[in-house]
Amino acid sequence: NRRIVLASRPKGAPANDNFRLEQSDIPKPAEGEVLLRTVFLSLDPYMRGRMSDAASYAEPVAIDEVMVGGTVNRVIESRLDGFAEGDWVLSYTCGWQDYALSDGTMLVNLGKNPPQPSLALGLLGMPGFTAYMGLLDIGAPQKGETLVVAAATGPVGATVGQIGKIKGCHVVGVAGGNKKCDFAVEELGFDACIDHYAEDFDQQLAAACPDGIDVYFENVGGKVLDGVLPLLNTSARIPVCGLVSQYNATNLPEGPDRLGLLMGTILTRRLKVQGFIIFDDYGHRYDEFYQQMSDWYAKGKVKYREQVVEGLEQAPEAFAGMLEGKNFGKLVVRVGED
Ligand code: NDP
Repeated sequence: NRRIVLASRPKGAPANDNFRLEQSDIPKPAEGEVLLRTVFLSLDPYMRGRMSDAASYAEPVAIDEVMVGGTVNRVIESRLDGFAEGDWVLSYTCGWQDYALSDGTMLVNLGKNPPQPSLALGLLGMPGFTAYMGLLDIGAPQKGETLVVAAATGPVGATVGQIGKIKGCHVVGVAGGNKKCDFAVEELGFDACIDHYAEDFDQQLAAACPDGIDVYFENVGGKVLDGVLPLLNTSARIPVCGLVSQYNATNLPEGPDRLGLLMGTILTRRLKVQGFIIFDDYGHRYDEFYQQMSDWYAKGKVKYREQVVEGLEQAPEAFAGMLEGKNFGKLVVRVGED
């Protein structure tokens, strides 16, 4: 059983020596447990927070413990009602390893033959759910309004923008580089997508939002937020989902303190700014999301791009790369065979 543990806490960007690959025996299930074998491991930005011991909404991973993560697994042996050998499951307790036991806590049975098992880690799982609830419940987009979302080709941003189109919005994405921007417009149907590496990013964003911004779905913070702030309309909504540009930060941003400007804008434009943690705040609405998103996906109204990295040992590097935009689509690791 290969497993990747947290070896040390990163300062700045995570590096390979913050992780350690270990071997251990394959455990045996006791009565009331199942033995799981991992097929896909999801890599998500929140894991950077779990590597740090700064106060947060969830406990950090302890040093020498297996890294946390959502996985799609096969049941190898079951001594637990409701799970049989060969079932596909979604697990939130197995993490970055080949085999793990589960007593059924946070374990979802996906059946014998789910058509695309890894969808449970993306569009039909946590990131899709995040996009759906954050946009519809907090962003409350109305027909004809302008919606801006960054990390536009990742699983959250891509889904936010496509739901925005379904709701009749003018959707402007922000992404790193031309390839991602072209994909957002040509494949995902966004009205425009601006490269945040462009020197005249602020001007390009303003030109793509001639009627201002009504909903800014906040995924990244940093200079994207700086560009968005002056364009926000009165009564704009900002679901605060993530701040990925800050996750590796070790210093405050350069330049003058913008907190006064931010608070002044919230006041004078009467902004609604609301953070949310998906399962804590919306766990009770998962079924509604799942029905609606499955239907949209089946009808081709929402598209989904996934990037599969081969091999558990690649996970640390792929994870660090994601925080810098090296992924293109929902990042998953193929850990083992079907
Ligand atoms: P992505 O697959 O989109 O990966 C993160 C992306 O962020 C990168 O690919 C990169 O895209 C972009 N990025 C990184 N640094 C910067 C930067 N400095 N400026 C602009 N963009 C940057 O991730 P997800 O879709 O899984 O997650 C998106 C956001 O949603 C994250 O902030 C995450 O923490 C948050 N989230 C929050 C949840 C909640 O409950 N609140 C639940 C799930 C996710 P590019 O190359 O296009 O710049």
